[in-house]
Amino acid sequence: MTTTSAAAAARATVHGYPRQGPNRELKKAVEGYWKGRLTAGALRETAAELRRSTWRQLAGAGIHEVPTGDFSYYDHVLDTSVMVGAIPARHRAAVEADALDGYFAMARGTQDAAPLEMTKWFDTNYHYLVPELGPDTVFTAAPGKQLDEVREALALGLAPRPVLVGPVTYLLLAKPAPGVGAGFDPLTLLDRLLPVYASVLAGLRAAGAEWVQLDEPALVQDRTPAELNAVARAYRELGGTGDRPRLLVASYFDRLGEALPVLAKAPVDGLALDFTGPAAANLDDLAAVGGLHGKRLLAGVVSGRNVWINDFEKSLSTLGTLLGLAGRVDVSSSCSLLHVPLDAAAERDIDPQVARWLAFARQKTTEVVTLARGLAQGTDTIAAELAANRAGLASRAGSALTHDPSVRARAAAVTDADARRSQTYQERATAQRAHLRLPLLPTTTIGSFPQTPELRAARAGLRAGTVDADAYERRIEAEIREVVAFQEKAGLDVLVHGEPERNDMVQYFAEQLTGYLATQHGWVQSYGTRYVRPPVLAGDISRPEPMTVRWTAYAQSLTDRPVKAMLTGPVTMLAWSFVRDDQPLGETARQVALALRDEVNDLEAAGSPVIQVDEPALRETLPLRATARPAYLEWATEAFRLATSGVRPDTQVHTHMCYAEFGDVLQAIDDLDADVISLEAARSHMGIAAELAAAGYPREAGPGVYDIHSPRVPDEAETASLIERALRSVAAERLWINPDCGLKTRTWPEVRPALVHMTAAARRVRDRL
Ligand code: GLN
Ligand code: ZN
Repeated sequence: MTTTSAAAAARATVHGYPRQGPNRELKKAVEGYWKGRLTAGALRETAAELRRSTWRQLAGAGIHEVPTGDFSYYDHVLDTSVMVGAIPARHRAAVEADALDGYFAMARGTQDAAPLEMTKWFDTNYHYLVPELGPDTVFTAAPGKQLDEVREALALGLAPRPVLVGPVTYLLLAKPAPGVGAGFDPLTLLDRLLPVYASVLAGLRAAGAEWVQLDEPALVQDRTPAELNAVARAYRELGGTGDRPRLLVASYFDRLGEALPVLAKAPVDGLALDFTGPAAANLDDLAAVGGLHGKRLLAGVVSGRNVWINDFEKSLSTLGTLLGLAGRVDVSSSCSLLHVPLDAAAERDIDPQVARWLAFARQKTTEVVTLARGLAQGTDTIAAELAANRAGLASRAGSALTHDPSVRARAAAVTDADARRSQTYQERATAQRAHLRLPLLPTTTIGSFPQTPELRAARAGLRAGTVDADAYERRIEAEIREVVAFQEKAGLDVLVHGEPERNDMVQYFAEQLTGYLATQHGWVQSYGTRYVRPPVLAGDISRPEPMTVRWTAYAQSLTDRPVKAMLTGPVTMLAWSFVRDDQPLGETARQVALALRDEVNDLEAAGSPVIQVDEPALRETLPLRATARPAYLEWATEAFRLATSGVRPDTQVHTHMCYAEFGDVLQAIDDLDADVISLEAARSHMGIAAELAAAGYPREAGPGVYDIHSPRVPDEAETASLIERALRSVAAERLWINPDCGLKTRTWPEVRPALVHMTAAARRVRDRL
């Protein structure tokens, strides 16, 4: 590649960095503060030190402009609510009394004031706190946090680029405040919000920020013409103010689509675009609009969503094309690195041959810098890095882990018939009725029972080496005996074993499947101080031996009632892992499905008459753009059917989904061809049952009648009234009675009475029918 003047100016940056610190110092400090072990001053100092060390590390690696403001004690959308003064009325007094305590009150709630609602940030597993707005909302600028961080970075001699949630995305993510009708559209507040943003921007410029980044990821979703008009208006206004820093509008997670020409024309100084995954389409789209006309482009060529090394040659070719389409091209991560773990070099247990394929936040930062250098100074200046990158990619492509011929041959031989059960749903329902002989309104649970202190202690002991495998297994058996005995006594019709052997519904299976890797330090923020360590789906997936049969069979040996076996479905196995990027997701899902199919068949052979395959993530990995959804739903439902269709007609297949909002996937739920579905419904007062009925769902369904997300124990009458309500939508012959979700987060003193009330309520309604 030859260097041009545009190329020579290319620099490296990232959109944001993990907040946690190398040893999750932030989590420890915040939780310490909550418990009163740490003063506010000490918490602030820990946070400031973490920011400084992150910036120093970024600068030391060669990042030329450091992101500021992306740090957060809890969540950056909550920080934005604070920045624009959108404090819910119920929290105002607390915020006025003490800003920090008030902030945490909004995040976590207090005795008298509920927290803000939490929901997933686009299609990631990060959760943000949903702004609550209404016609009476008054915005006021409170840019203190943003200004402080700019000054902190300047004090280190660095160039800060504050990163804010953009005004349009902020409003699109908001919901009507309690008491405000659902018809209220927060976007109607745009004209009120823009002057506040303008004032924050002026303040940031005065503090010394040359550039400010406004994140507008909501624009990668399908937007109405009215919403696109709002975007044009917002940036015309913000871009038109005299006293402002240079503005960079950022998008990520998918292509910018119809919003691209709007922003390309807007009087802003730069755009950040994602060029990875589905967002790679931005390249052609950008060419189609004739480029950015002299604006700066932050080219997101290093994925902030996966854990794999970049393909340097591919990125350099993208960057080379982009040089002709913008005034200045800088190299960046595709989004904040918040969504990936901190440092792959900390993983000492991963085979070095595999570890060289991994890039976490630190490695991705170096990749961005290397690519910028290659772009600016010519690829011969990064010859060694290119060679190492090529070798890493070749090692991955040629590895036995990523290419298991028997797994590939089996997946390639799958036919449409393999993913279909041998009889229709109606025929199966008859066979299952004869086989299971359940009463009307059968009662069951979703799988897990409370994880007791004894069980947690045994698991910790096993990890620490103080409890041996035998003793641990005896503990599991004791838990199963207790769960089975309780369910018989409480009068449940279809029992479960309680899942005591599982730490996590994905990790448990990942640990037993070949092709998955576990990390030791691969923590990523899920919400607030909660971090998860997703397994890495690195290679071809196979099942060396049965994973759950032993525990399910043990439970069945203790009772005459049917025991329902529990598995995690293929889509959820992918959604809650880092997945490989070297083959289509559908291909990976098919491999996982085949491994699960063997497990399902083994469970049936071992005597399980009912098998549940959970797919709580089916809705959440729905692509952001509607055009990509049919293909996703096609492979997702096929994978579920492939996993479950190897059984006899009289074996009953259940599935389970939580996190409400199924509107977009009702047809897909039917396409799973499960016999029974259980759903979260208690909070929506059976809203989902009505939706399913309206969609003509023909199968059996168990809309949850016990809200397990609350410590409250509903009484028999309340549960009975929810059952009556469910009966308005689902015929008695097809209605199951169960809680909303698994019980593992609850305690026995809550679960015992709640389930006794549930079975009593079911009997009461049954008697009336
Ligand atoms: N079977 C799982 C459990 O009961 C389901 C969990 C879930 O839906 N998230 O814990
Ligand atoms: Zn659930």
